[in-house]
Amino acid sequence: MLELKHIKKYYHVGDTLTKAQDDVSVAFRKQEFVAILGPSGSGKTTMLNIIGGLDRYDSGDLIIKGKSTKTFKDADWDAYRNNSIGFIFQSYNLITHLSIIDNVEMGMTLSGVSAAEKRKKAEDALIRVGLKEHMHKNPNQLSGGQMQRVAIARAIANDPEILLADEPTGALDSETSEEIMQLIKDLSKERLVVMVTHNPDLAHKYADRIIDFADGQIQHDSHPHVEGDKEDNFELKRTKMSYFTALKLSWNNIRTKKGRTFLTMFASSIGIIGIAIVLALSNGFQKQIDQTQSETMAAMPITVSQVGNDPSALAQQNNNKGFSKHKYVTAEQSATDKAQHVNKLNDKYLDYVNKMSKKKAKNIAVTYGTGMNLIRESDGKWQAIKFSNANPNGKGIDASAMMAQSTGVGGSVYPIDRNGKQSFLKKNYKLLSGAYPTKTTDIVLVADRDNVVNINALRNLGMKVSEKQKYNYKDLIGTKIQVVANNDYYQQLPTGNYIPGNNYAQMAKAGNTKTLRVTGVLRIKSKNSDGLLANGIAYSDRLTKEVMNDNKTSAIVQAQEKNPSKNIMTGAAMDESTAAATMTMLGATKTPTSIQIYPTTFKGKDKVLDYLDKYNKGKSKANKVVYTDMAGTVSSMTGGLMDAITYVLIAFAAISLVTSMIMIAILTYTSVLERTKEIGVLKALGARKKDITRVFDAETAILGVGSGLLGILIAWLCTFPINIVLKNVTGLAGVAVLNPIHAIVLVIIATVLTLLGGHIPARMAAKKDAAIALRSA
Ligand code: ADP
Ligand code: MG
Repeated sequence: MLELKHIKKYYHVGDTLTKAQDDVSVAFRKQEFVAILGPSGSGKTTMLNIIGGLDRYDSGDLIIKGKSTKTFKDADWDAYRNNSIGFIFQSYNLITHLSIIDNVEMGMTLSGVSAAEKRKKAEDALIRVGLKEHMHKNPNQLSGGQMQRVAIARAIANDPEILLADEPTGALDSETSEEIMQLIKDLSKERLVVMVTHNPDLAHKYADRIIDFADGQIQHDSHPHVEGDKEDNFELKRTKMSYFTALKLSWNNIRTKKGRTFLTMFASSIGIIGIAIVLALSNGFQKQIDQTQSETMAAMPITVSQVGNDPSALAQQNNNKGFSKHKYVTAEQSATDKAQHVNKLNDKYLDYVNKMSKKKAKNIAVTYGTGMNLIRESDGKWQAIKFSNANPNGKGIDASAMMAQSTGVGGSVYPIDRNGKQSFLKKNYKLLSGAYPTKTTDIVLVADRDNVVNINALRNLGMKVSEKQKYNYKDLIGTKIQVVANNDYYQQLPTGNYIPGNNYAQMAKAGNTKTLRVTGVLRIKSKNSDGLLANGIAYSDRLTKEVMNDNKTSAIVQAQEKNPSKNIMTGAAMDESTAAATMTMLGATKTPTSIQIYPTTFKGKDKVLDYLDKYNKGKSKANKVVYTDMAGTVSSMTGGLMDAITYVLIAFAAISLVTSMIMIAILTYTSVLERTKEIGVLKALGARKKDITRVFDAETAILGVGSGLLGILIAWLCTFPINIVLKNVTGLAGVAVLNPIHAIVLVIIATVLTLLGGHIPARMAAKKDAAIALRSA
């Protein structure tokens, strides 16, 4: 059945050589009870371990059922131990964090026996050793004798052909020893039992055959056996531990050390907590910044005015810190004057701007300095009112359309979405009363955050107002004014000059007269902006276009065009720029005073700028069009700063993450040391190196997931007090927001890092010599 041929096993420790097996040759029968007697240190355990495949011989051969083991690989030995060998140790070597039944099942778990069969066999084995009623207890709830019975049940559960016992009664009292010996004796009826013992009395009483061992050699064999030549008919079934088993083993182990595990998880979660909080904060701040930015952006569209500032020219200011040595002064334009650039906002440019993709800029407001002829009926009397957003001083080019609008004299122009929808006002303005405008002739009143409306705007509506006068919304809504076409408004004198007419009632009835109606009172929604539109009257840019269309072919415009050097109304001589202003006033200009472009998203703004820059490519300086991007300067600073701070904080938190990874490695290493015995037992039961690695990897995985989840939980809990503090300090609400994706990624990172940290100790565990592992008490 089993034969040792000239087995040698030497140990070299320092200068001393121990011959643990010194040329041992012996054969065993298929069924017998062999007792090995001998003094301590004589090599009995070593022999047993070699027979059981727990230890390797240096030379010689171990022949199992006629098969030489010289060519056995690790996997063969693992399978051999699992299939054919049952081990019983002096110190029982039960896995204390598993229940008795789980201990008994472990060998079968490794060889992949089905759950039902495993349970059945384990119960049978426990019944056989007389422990049926203790099945679900834990090992440490049993007496020594009972524990040894469990160990025996574990050894025989898978019905091995060979049972190896190393001083099984060494730790038991004599009465219990007798019981155990009887049990082993019974078991030897069906298999080969090789038992090492100190006790010659027990050996002689129970064993069939006694081998005396000393100094690594067999001194006497009471019943030698010569193994006949045998066919090699030995087959092995490979073992494999499932991931689930590995997890279960580790989970049970961790459960027995709750306090320590929790502390470790907590300590190693600190890195995750740090990173999670930093991310949550930067997330929240970024959101705040984005919101402020998009509000800022709405308040500060990219503006192209008739006169812009060329930033490249502004940059070339005199940076010379020294003093001139010249004995004269030089006349030069100021830097700001030099930077002034007259933009040619001609049709070509307008076309170019209008061709911009709607995705980049949903809203483009083109403001013309067009004058409108306005009349109003109030208390049955008609009167003319001034309503123009031309430069209030009426001179030439409007250098800053924004400024003119803010006077509230003319009212501001809001854009209709380029896809025809009215979302600009709805998005940015709250309706205080009435309705959002829908028709071109609908106009609105824009109030500021204190519900104040520019007094001039109300005057423009033809109201007789005094400072601080209060209006109910209903008194304003529905107010009507009329826009009269040039041909109806002006009349030609016999001299050829034109003058405004004064029969307003008749003008009001003219076919081309439009009635503008105040439909609503609006107020800016955002706290961060004072408004995109000037306080006062606002009307759609379409209205201006329609008025311009009506007037550009009117008699007065044509007359003025024919004679540009003389004012058609006053007869006064005009220079070029006054002529242009007059044409504008008459509603016949083609040149906008300003173009406001509202990028759809803050990020998309750069694309808009790129698009505008492209227009200037290869154009002469005079033909270039420069724009003002006020939002740009604000945002580039805040965004970059935020990123930098986030990176620094994450770097700090990452250091603590690495620290916790090292901690996990240390913990796993401690666990490996602590579980050395278990590793030995698992190996004795046939676990592969891989399986051992798996057990510890499973443990670190549990720790990793645990610390990750704990970290996220704590970080999440921290966001509440942090938000309260931030709210008090900065007035910003809900800044710290943990992004669920960040949370998931962080848990994964924690798991992966701890797995990495724990993997090296896990490999070390796997490499542990099973024989040595089991020797460690
Ligand atoms: P026994 O079981 O008969 O008491 P062992 O087989 O345990 O004896 O040991 C035989 C001899 O081999 C002893 O002298 C022991 O010190 C030595 N020995 C066993 N294992 C090792 C080892 N891993 N390294 C060095 N010496 C060892
Ligand atoms: Mg021993």
